Amino acid sequence: MDAIPNPKRGLEVIIDPNRCIANAKCTTVSPGVFVLDDETGIAVLADEQATVEQIFAAARACPTQAIIIEQFGRRMFPQILTPMFGEPE
Ligand code: SF4
Repeated sequence: MDAIPNPKRGLEVIIDPNRCIANAKCTTVSPGVFVLDDETGIAVLADEQATVEQIFAAARACPTQAIIIEQFGRRMFPQILTPMFGEPE
């Protein structure tokens, strides 16, 4: 049986409206993939067929990390770091 084509490989893109400052970095880096909503000014994913590379390039370019990427329910970007415990050496 052939694999089902899935250009996004299970990725889900979430844009945090509280973080988006509408500076259009993502729309510059990945034109046509992300656009600014006419009414809210907040970025939205406009191309459901966008490639993984286009999505990550835009997310990395976002200065406020408003673009959150999950794959199969797990956070991929931005990375959540586990705090270190104990005293530094
Ligand atoms: S780069 Fe980030 S802050 Fe700027 S428009 Fe895109 S999502 Fe919003």
